[in-house]
Amino acid sequence: RRSLGAMLRHWADVAAERPAIGVVDGRSHTFGSWFRRSSRIACGLDDLGIGAGDTVGFIGKDAVVWGEVLVAASYVRAAGVPFNWRLSRREMSETVADAAPSVTVVESAFLPLVGHDDPGDGVTRVLVGDAAPIAYDVWVEGLRGFELEVTSEPGDVAMIVYTSGTSGQAKGVELPNRAIAANIGSSAPWDIKPGDTVMIPAPLFHVSGTGWLFYCLGIGAEALYTTDIKPSAVLDVLAGGAVDHALTVPAVVHMLVSHPDARGREYPNLRTLIYGGSPMAPTTARDAMTIFGCDLVQSYGMTETCGPITFLTPNDHRAGGARLAAAGRAVPGVELVIADPVDGAVCPPGVTGEVRTRSALIMSGYRNQPDELAEVLTPDGWFRTGDAGYVDDDGYLYLCDRIKDMIVSGGENIYPVEVENVLLEHPQVLEAAVIGVPDEKWGETVKAVVVVRGSLDPGELTAFCRERLAHYKCPTSIDLRDELPRNPSGKILKRELRKVYWSQHP
Ligand code: AMP
Ligand code: MG
Repeated sequence: RRSLGAMLRHWADVAAERPAIGVVDGRSHTFGSWFRRSSRIACGLDDLGIGAGDTVGFIGKDAVVWGEVLVAASYVRAAGVPFNWRLSRREMSETVADAAPSVTVVESAFLPLVGHDDPGDGVTRVLVGDAAPIAYDVWVEGLRGFELEVTSEPGDVAMIVYTSGTSGQAKGVELPNRAIAANIGSSAPWDIKPGDTVMIPAPLFHVSGTGWLFYCLGIGAEALYTTDIKPSAVLDVLAGGAVDHALTVPAVVHMLVSHPDARGREYPNLRTLIYGGSPMAPTTARDAMTIFGCDLVQSYGMTETCGPITFLTPNDHRAGGARLAAAGRAVPGVELVIADPVDGAVCPPGVTGEVRTRSALIMSGYRNQPDELAEVLTPDGWFRTGDAGYVDDDGYLYLCDRIKDMIVSGGENIYPVEVENVLLEHPQVLEAAVIGVPDEKWGETVKAVVVVRGSLDPGELTAFCRERLAHYKCPTSIDLRDELPRNPSGKILKRELRKVYWSQHP
């Protein structure tokens, strides 16, 4: 089953009536109805002359519509592109220009992002060239149906995900069928089985949101989404007993466990909670284990790796202790090394360097930016993640930071995460971000930006750090904020934080 389209066709053949994809309080499909609908749309794409190398866009929150469009694209060898509806108009127009979709399906509320008025009727539209938007359902119903030849090849790009990560210019990560199939085929420390229901409260335009859809489609499980990620609604669904596994990002896990409705109820059939995409505090993992009473799995990966590089297993979580701060061990079949960021030499256990990985899961490239691929891929096929980390003697990976976030103060390298972890140990600190700011004497100096509970004197926090960290690592200034800027996947936007201080610098 070499492509998304072939996977859906398989399940439509062997389990047509099984639930396949749904939105809580919204539409849903069995594998059979999903297949029929996607085939019909594929026919419409084919009529428009869309084929290999073309792209089909989606701007919206309804996973059922996205699922229909994505697999339809696969049937004509085109790539689906889930655009980030949080972008500004300007960012959206740049991203759309780069992806150049032949057809884009847009939910009504997002039409202004692409230069059309929102009629306010909640009706999803289809944009084809310069023609006026057409109602999506009307368009689909008007299409002829035909028997498909699934021709998508392993090397065809199935999806393009735009990622700016936390460091600037958006890049379209091209994920080929080959990488998706490798991800689904790799062994995993959970028991998601055909017929299970997997809830995915994560945005569709992020690799976590749609990557897990691929996984469910590949193995014949049901993917269940919500249009908006409201913690109380997600908790109700999880407590309702219809969900076997839930997959999300740490920011959502944190929202769930800190919600007043979370405690004191049962989550009867929930077997696994899988999280990843950004660091999560060990205390949040402990709370989640207590509250949900289920297995926890952490995954570490990136858009560019189309899935996990490492897993922290349920047993690792149960063992607790220092291991809770690890991202786990390499997924079987995925190679991992720590390399000196400058000369590429392999670092021994305990020494921090750049995390590099090699496997069949790696993207085929960045759309329209071939030079960028050469930047991140070494000649012998190692992908440079840009993450700083070390492995211990047992092969557990500990992520320290982004290489680019490293602060150099007076010639000493400081990894902000180390300082953030100490700040977070203080009972009143809810969130912490550490950045380097310009300093006449030291080049850069350490600044902490924190969100605290109640009132806290920054001087007390400085003293707290001095007891626990080398002097040069301690913040020389601490700013209190009501919240920290984050991107939709929960990563703190250090670029945003830094901007203020560096722009004031002459
Ligand atoms: P993205 O490409 O937007 O999915 O972001 C990938 C980046 O998120 C990685 O390079 C890491 O910096 C971070 N990340 C992903 N998973 C984890 C994890 N489990 N723990 C810490 N950081 C993570
Ligand atoms: Mg990224």
